[in-house]
Amino acid sequence: MARIAFIGLGNMGLPMAINLIKGGHQVEGVDLNPASVAKFKEAGGTPVEFAKVAASRADVVITMLPAGKHVREVYLGANGIVENANAGTLLIDCSTIDVESARAVAAAATGKGLLMLDAPVSGGVGGASAGTLTFMVGGSTQAFVRAESILQKMGKTIVHAGDAGTGQAAKICNNMILGISMIAVSEAFVLAEKLGLDHQKLFDIASKSSGQCWSMTSYCPVPGPVPTSPANRDYQAGFTAAMMLKDLRLAQDAAKSVAAKTELGADAERIYAAYADGGAAETDFSGIIRFVRG
Ligand code: NAD
Repeated sequence: MARIAFIGLGNMGLPMAINLIKGGHQVEGVDLNPASVAKFKEAGGTPVEFAKVAASRADVVITMLPAGKHVREVYLGANGIVENANAGTLLIDCSTIDVESARAVAAAATGKGLLMLDAPVSGGVGGASAGTLTFMVGGSTQAFVRAESILQKMGKTIVHAGDAGTGQAAKICNNMILGISMIAVSEAFVLAEKLGLDHQKLFDIASKSSGQCWSMTSYCPVPGPVPTSPANRDYQAGFTAAMMLKDLRLAQDAAKSVAAKTELGADAERIYAAYADGGAAETDFSGIIRFVRG
């Protein structure tokens, strides 16, 4: 049993922390939102007011925060985790943030004798609740080996991607593929509609042909062919358009920083920005087909 400090008990963090409690760990939790803290307490967790207090008595600190600026603040401030954790503490940031912030925080932590991993996830709130998340992990092998049994309580697939920042790199590369492929599948269905080709017929053919991809076979943007996809519940999220836009922006920032040519990624960012700004930010990202239809 490890003593774990869990900072950020939101949509993802709360069910992840609950799975750690169920897994027999002693979990102290911190969040700015009293409603999330109350739910955490109800599930058997111990609320703590300040991250620095929880970090100072933990073997492992896990964070699940909105963006890079929150992660920098929680780790690097005077009241931050890096300043207050004991040498040898394992720090795992599961938030989706920019590669640069991930590397800056890891360097500060390593400089203080702490072990640090960036470990963003895919699988959404459903995966967080079911304990079936995929973790993409960047950092030293020593830190990864120590983290594995903890991550296994929250996820099913845990991949060591390489050094610090490569977990975040894997996440934004994956989601750039997803954003582009969802637009591609949507354009194909809309073209099919205009050409008089039935949705189900296109699905039956393309899902068994070279057009096959996750956006078609697991998350089909039209109702019918995949009964579990958000298209069947009026594009209720799921994974929101706002989150897809966040990840596409992270991918574009990263691409610019290394002069990588990602033209379709840039188009996908522009298309999702127009869709989200048009009032669809909190609906599922697969609803982009409605934007494609015009
Ligand atoms: P959320 O907004 O529901 O939760 C974030 C929590 O962090 C909130 O409860 C907030 O009060 C808390 N917080 C913010 N600043 C804090 C601070 N200084 N101290 C303590 N708590 C603080 O967000 P979420 O949906 O849980 O997402 C968390 C991260 O996971 C994001 O980086 C997101 O991109 C990523 N992610 C989300 C999903 C998803 O489907 N929701 C899927 C994959 C990855």
